[in-house]
Amino acid sequence: MLWLVLTTGKCNLTCDYCGGSFPKETVPWGVKYDINKLKVNIERDPNATVIFYGGEPLMNPKFIIQVMDTIRAKRWGIQTNGVAVRLLPEIYWKKMDVALLSIDGREEVTDKHRGKGIYKVVVKNASYLKSLGVETIARMAVTQDADIYEEVMHLLSLGVFDKVHWQLNVIWSERWDFENWAYSSYLPGIKRLMEYFMAELRKGRIVKIVPFLGVISAYFFKKYRGVACGAGYDSVSVSTDGRVLSCPIAVREKWAELGSLESFRLLEEPLPEECKVCEYKEYCGGRCLYTIHEKYWGEEGFKVVDEVTKEYLKIVLSRIDEIKGLIREGVINLEDLRYDPTEDSTEVIP
Ligand code: SF4
Ligand code: SF4
Repeated sequence: MLWLVLTTGKCNLTCDYCGGSFPKETVPWGVKYDINKLKVNIERDPNATVIFYGGEPLMNPKFIIQVMDTIRAKRWGIQTNGVAVRLLPEIYWKKMDVALLSIDGREEVTDKHRGKGIYKVVVKNASYLKSLGVETIARMAVTQDADIYEEVMHLLSLGVFDKVHWQLNVIWSERWDFENWAYSSYLPGIKRLMEYFMAELRKGRIVKIVPFLGVISAYFFKKYRGVACGAGYDSVSVSTDGRVLSCPIAVREKWAELGSLESFRLLEEPLPEECKVCEYKEYCGGRCLYTIHEKYWGEEGFKVVDEVTKEYLKIVLSRIDEIKGLIREGVINLEDLRYDPTEDSTEVIP
């Protein structure tokens, strides 16, 4: 199972997607529970992936060190904005399996939303982490400034990211003209990106674009029972106050509370009601539990995003027959297409 462990509610940046730190009353800036309670829970899980989360997790490096020194886990990782990487000593980085670094694509797009100079720092730090043997994942937030094809191809061309993943800046932000952008820019860009992915596949190379790989893997291996991020059934988030939540950003929402480190219950039926009759449910799992619950853009906004999700899924799934052919011909190995998003803490569906 995936354990997203919040180290602090504090953040050192104020990106315009989320605005920075959580208030201390909502997510304390230091850890308020006994670490042994975390240890008991995590060590009971033989398959534990622990990913440090925040706020900005590197704002509390001492806790990361304490956890890595005292708790046994199968896999370690971090979701970071990639700026304060030097606050964690190198020996701990060397123990990390994966680092997800926030970067939105080209320099001007990243710096516009995250702050001047951020792009250069993140690329430099990604290169440093990669040199230490940490797997690096570019974690993009995608909004109307993005040309998805250009941003993803740019990040892949840098050679410092092993995988690329993105999330759409929809529903949890202010309503914007998503539909115009989606049909004129985003979906055509996804088609081009899929062409590139397939061209490389024909050469026997799997380009690690998570929103493609996660859907293809669900087709061939394990279908999604609920949201692909695992929220509430394959993944839990431990807030700094010791509450156990289904989703790490739902720190104020009662529906997300599964219990505490003393005792909590996973969701028995993780697939959202809205998705039970959807033909794509096994490849999508409901996209995002948070946005299904919160629906900041109303029913209409939800439907608009959902239509775009279905179009993207169609683009990916339309290539399954060709992929089967490449497996039959021995161009690629089926096993190499296996992808478990809970090992990386990616959400698969943008
Ligand atoms: S495509 Fe939409 S309706 Fe279907 S499973 Fe995903 S979120 Fe649910
Ligand atoms: S995809 Fe949605 S439900 Fe899953 S972790 Fe992200 S915000 Fe939470």
